[in-house]
Amino acid sequence: MEHECKKCLLYESAEGDILKDIKEKIAKLPEGDRVSSDEYEKRLGFCKDCDNLISGVCMKCGCYVEFRAAFKKQKCPDVKGRKW
Ligand code: SF4
Repeated sequence: MEHECKKCLLYESAEGDILKDIKEKIAKLPEGDRVSSDEYEKRLGFCKDCDNLISGVCMKCGCYVEFRAAFKKQKCPDVKGRKW
């Protein structure tokens, strides 16, 4: 990671290779397991406003949010203030 960027998603923090890998993995998910693009953007919008986001990683779970947010079965891991 080149630098820590509070409240940045990967596409904003120049982590291009990681983001490319994540996009490829999301594209391979069965459609029934994936959220709609509207829901995906809504989730990422919450993450972008969240203090737990650093350089695309959620400090509550250690996941890249751009990956986690793609799964229907996943939820925001902040049990005290779940945002999606
Ligand atoms: S706590 Fe929830 S809203 Fe915040 S970065 Fe993690 S997944 Fe996103």
